[in-house]
Amino acid sequence: MNPNLESQLNEELEELKNNDLERTVDDLRFISSTKAIDKEGKEFLVFGTNNYLGLTHHGDVIKAAQEASIYGTGSTGSRMTTGASFEARELENNISEFKNVESTLIFNTGYMTNLGVIYALTKENDVIFSDQLNHASIIDGTRISKAKVRVYKHKDTEDLERLIKTELEESPKNNEANNSNFFIISDGVFSMDGDIAPLPELVEIADEYNCTLIIDDAHATGVIGKTGKGTVEYYKDKTGIDLTESVDLQIGTLSKALASEGGFVCGKQAYIDYLINKSRPFIFSTALSPSTIASANTALNLLKENSKEYLDNLNKNTRIMRKLLVDGGLNVIDGETPIIPIIIGPADLANRFSNQLKEEGILVSAIRPPSVPKDMSRLRLTIMASHTKEEIEFTAKAIIKIWKNIKKGNE
Ligand SMILES: *Cc1c(COP(=O)(O)O)cnc(C)c1O
Repeated sequence: MNPNLESQLNEELEELKNNDLERTVDDLRFISSTKAIDKEGKEFLVFGTNNYLGLTHHGDVIKAAQEASIYGTGSTGSRMTTGASFEARELENNISEFKNVESTLIFNTGYMTNLGVIYALTKENDVIFSDQLNHASIIDGTRISKAKVRVYKHKDTEDLERLIKTELEESPKNNEANNSNFFIISDGVFSMDGDIAPLPELVEIADEYNCTLIIDDAHATGVIGKTGKGTVEYYKDKTGIDLTESVDLQIGTLSKALASEGGFVCGKQAYIDYLINKSRPFIFSTALSPSTIASANTALNLLKENSKEYLDNLNKNTRIMRKLLVDGGLNVIDGETPIIPIIIGPADLANRFSNQLKEEGILVSAIRPPSVPKDMSRLRLTIMASHTKEEIEFTAKAIIKIWKNIKKGNE
């Protein structure tokens, strides 16, 4: 028994609490895609889920989960052993068709996908170039990798190119003997700021310097591009140029717009076959249950059939909320995705803001360090296709009212 660790932990927790950085877990139960209740039965309007299209509560998705549960509530093993359900292969084929790529592999979460892909594909003497604001799961993937990691300034392709050139001078990659590779990894839509990666420039650099390009479309799949296919489609709509072939691997999650749980990676068959053989999170963890996979597959089918309706609603709701907040004087990070960050500054103020909204029956998360830089604490709203105009106006009004009160109090 170690008598010291418990008191060390308590000290650290106390310090987090004193700095308004303590994290706690609230118990919630969703009663619809946009509303949840707490243990006392108090109802909240939720503006912070990743459930962009509201499909977690679509009748067809629920029915698919129920129907697949007759094949067992658990998958019973890794896909390597007994956990290879028909549903998993069906979903992989469906994603490949949707993303227009050769092959797809499902992982148990988006987080595990990044760990499993980055760790398996990169080795000593390789270099990974990673955007400064990439998701934690990419950062952790690069940390367990044996490759060298170079972090470039957020979306700054000049900085990226400068780092690549430096690496080429210092450790000549074209030393064929050690067979080293360069990788560029970026979120498609960045999870905290809601902005979009400069894909055409990344492709240009990846092509010029023979880099493997990996784009994590967790917040982009089902969210951007005119039929919800993600970052590649977003730029195809804009420029007419289809960059599908130029992105080596696209990563995604089943847990956001696709209304379930799990992650996936898709691209050329050789990459997928290699990952099946080498990716430890894929090999050594029990597969998702048939119900979990069937619900994601049904959500994807609904997206394919109704993409115009869902994305029109999502974009319209996003535009309304962004305009109301900006007109109300809030410091909103400009953008076009349904992730709307309102910069508040100090962590304690962001906490207070979030708590006051909660009293008005609205749940919006306060995002504080280390998720965001110091003094960049924020409210982070996410908009859904299933929010009503009334819900958006009610929430914007409450935010603006509280902001005015806080400003008055500080004067
Ligand atoms: C949410 C997210 C993940 C993790 O996905 P989970 O399925 O929740 O584990 C990975 N990458 C990015 C960019 C994300 O936003």
